[in-house]
Amino acid sequence: MIGESKKAVGGCLCGAIRYTVTGPTIFVSQCCCKDCQKATGTGHTTIFGIRKDQLEMAGTPKRFTSEGDTGGTVTRHFCGTCGGRLFTTGDLPGEQLVIMQAGSLDDPNQVSPESVIYTKDAPVWDFFDPELPKFEAMQPRER
Ligand SMILES: [Zn+2]
Ligand SMILES: [Zn+2]
Repeated sequence: MIGESKKAVGGCLCGAIRYTVTGPTIFVSQCCCKDCQKATGTGHTTIFGIRKDQLEMAGTPKRFTSEGDTGGTVTRHFCGTCGGRLFTTGDLPGEQLVIMQAGSLDDPNQVSPESVIYTKDAPVWDFFDPELPKFEAMQPRER
């Protein structure tokens, strides 16, 4: 995880969009949901949660909004030039959570996965650390 008040920087592949996040991260997970698979073209995506006020952006990502699993909509933010995935937000009232793509960090080793979520959708060929707690869908947590 990125510790309290610690900074981490990242951005897309072409560099048109850069960001700084300030810790602490709320969670770090491997997400195997169908939407993550389609959006990234991989078996799962590695994500970490922060609040909106912990993210500073330079550049304007493109957005794609689809229906979420738990009601409301989910918006995926990505670079319109290189297609690099950056983060995901929801529209539920009071929603402050931003779900960052860990691979967009300049140093992805600043976070390490703590759980695997949406295992019900995981392809059989994907592999996960056997030590990590696994959840069929969303991991229950306090906001
Ligand atoms: Zn880009
Ligand atoms: Zn997902």
